[in-house]
Amino acid sequence: MGSPMTPLDPVALKSQFPLFQKLPELVYLDNASTTQKPARVIEATRRYYEEYASNVHRASYAISAQAEEAYEGTREIVRAFLNAASTDEIVFTRGATEGVNLVAQTFGRANIRSGDEIIVSEMEHHANFVPWQMLCEQTGATLRIIPIGEDGALSMETYRSLLNERTKLVAVVHVSNGLGTINPVKEIIRGARTVGAAVLIDAAQSAYHMPLDVQALDCDFLVFSGHKLYGPTGIGVLYGKRERLEAMPAWHGGGDMIKTVTVDGYTVADLPIKFEAGTPNIVGGIGLGAAIEFLIEVGLDRVEALERSVMEYGLAKLATIPEFRLIGSPKNRVSVISFTVDGCPAADVAELLDLRNIAVRVGKHCAHPTFHHFGVTSAARASLACYNSVADMDALHDGLVYAIRTLRRG
Ligand code: PMP
Repeated sequence: MGSPMTPLDPVALKSQFPLFQKLPELVYLDNASTTQKPARVIEATRRYYEEYASNVHRASYAISAQAEEAYEGTREIVRAFLNAASTDEIVFTRGATEGVNLVAQTFGRANIRSGDEIIVSEMEHHANFVPWQMLCEQTGATLRIIPIGEDGALSMETYRSLLNERTKLVAVVHVSNGLGTINPVKEIIRGARTVGAAVLIDAAQSAYHMPLDVQALDCDFLVFSGHKLYGPTGIGVLYGKRERLEAMPAWHGGGDMIKTVTVDGYTVADLPIKFEAGTPNIVGGIGLGAAIEFLIEVGLDRVEALERSVMEYGLAKLATIPEFRLIGSPKNRVSVISFTVDGCPAADVAELLDLRNIAVRVGKHCAHPTFHHFGVTSAARASLACYNSVADMDALHDGLVYAIRTLRRG
């Protein structure tokens, strides 16, 4: 697909996505919810069902061995994608949400007690908020919150003041799904190390926008979902440092996750299967491998550059609409644009945009505290991926002008 220096052409990329062939008019701007799937992902899942559908980890015949090779092959693809030290550190989950819950209920239940503190931020998705609230209910630990500053970045000064010897875990989002803020996770991790706290990074919104390196970050845990990364739904990844995962109790019990079972008890399997009870999402895993291969081939650094230029064009153009109010304007951001329109309810704006085949999301985007911070009860959100072009930003601008005119008239 050209050298790493060649800029990407979003229109050429779009042609790799069958949904856009079927719906050529669609201006899809809801990528922070889920991305569309390239042909190679759909083809990889179709091939599994048509050519070698079978279970894994019990391979005694050819197509089962083929399924296992493809599914476990993704584990190595993910390891390389994250630069993890070993495939033992790559646990397949249903998605980012399940990854956080797994860590809360294993690492958390084993290590966090009454009087301990867990730090999260005010801009977390509920997936990295509620599991910690639940753990606090279960253990008597306290949740401490890093507040959002004026511009939509985290207050790092407050973060540093929250750290103390009671801090056992810091769980923060890498990129906010509501504001697009890129958080200084390296600095956050360094801070946590000064008090010996473990760190979980929610990479659901960063994994498809920028390269990740878990060893350079030195995080203990990192989670993401396949479906936001051009892959299938129902599959995700929990990365955990080997020594952390080894020390954690198993979570779900059942097939696969055991080594031995007798009427008197059980022993657990080695990493990473210890955390993967039952028949896994085989086809999801295979599709995720194809999605990551797609992203590697396209080049995440080039995706980052393309999305940045389209976002900057879009933000400048949208700012010419007097009624347009951007929510949060952090300096370091990705292409998530949450906004309100003066005098126009967000739901009505989205409905009118839909009449023009422009798909945006409305609400508080599973990040209620983020939007409460800005006093917003409902916002529209346009979020970009590698196939969005400046033409999509023009369509959004023109659609908003049309929506405002229509609603003002009504
Ligand atoms: N964290 C963030 C930042 C997200 O944006 C999302 C999904 N919107 C999640 C976690 C949860 O992902 P999933 O629903 O795929 O588990």
